[in-house]
Amino acid sequence: MNIKIKQEQEIDLIRESSLLVGKTLGEVAKLIRPGVNTLMLDKVAEEFIRDHGGVPAFKNYPSGSEVPPFPFTLCISVNEEVVHGMPSAGKDLREGDIVSVDCGVLMNGYFGDSAYTFAVGEVSSKRKRLLRVTKESLYLGIEQARAGNFIGDVSQAIQFHAESHGYSIVREMVGHGIGQDLHEPPEVPNFGRKKTGIELKEGMVIAIEPMVNLGKRKIRVSNTDGWTVLASDGQPSAHFEHTVVIRKDKGEILSSFDYVESVEATEIIS
Ligand code: MG
Ligand code: MG
Repeated sequence: MNIKIKQEQEIDLIRESSLLVGKTLGEVAKLIRPGVNTLMLDKVAEEFIRDHGGVPAFKNYPSGSEVPPFPFTLCISVNEEVVHGMPSAGKDLREGDIVSVDCGVLMNGYFGDSAYTFAVGEVSSKRKRLLRVTKESLYLGIEQARAGNFIGDVSQAIQFHAESHGYSIVREMVGHGIGQDLHEPPEVPNFGRKKTGIELKEGMVIAIEPMVNLGKRKIRVSNTDGWTVLASDGQPSAHFEHTVVIRKDKGEILSSFDYVESVEATEIIS
């Protein structure tokens, strides 16, 4: 397996793309409310990315393959939709929904990738807790993303935190290396055992993205659109993702939730 070690110049470019993803998610955050249309969110995100010199990374991905490519800028996955949900003119957000918005940007030859799960209006405490624990599990994984550790250390930290709260980890979908390709080796599972898998080295860049189900871990792919991944038991699922570079002490986050969280903080005050 050829895992690329990125030079600092390359890491800077991945950071720029990842920050544009973070800002785009911040623009989406401003619009998240009951009644908002998901295709409108997609249009806003695409325009924002292009206005800032980037290209939406998911649109028409993968190119040149036999499967029909993903036609949108954002993956918008509501409630029991885990990932790869499709924006649609017929789909509005409703009070109490949780919605994962996943976004990728290609700029100057390098990709950035990040996802955030939003609460729409007032959501149940059960769902709020799922969001909190999934986000915590991402950060616990990032703490393990340091040189000399193994992929399994990241995976185990995520799995332990989510499962100790009674949730289950989606196993079929994993995080990934990222750089000049959106998906590079290695795979970054959200379950596993310490000291297993490849050894992490400074300058490796990975997207860590726990997908955590409130109910059972089993998933299925929608046979309507061929893309949307759903929790088979119909229970809600959460998804948070950062693009991270391996450093000596812990992972350095190249993407950002700051733009989203400042919008959320304003809404709590007002
Ligand atoms: Mg993503
Ligand atoms: Mg990803």
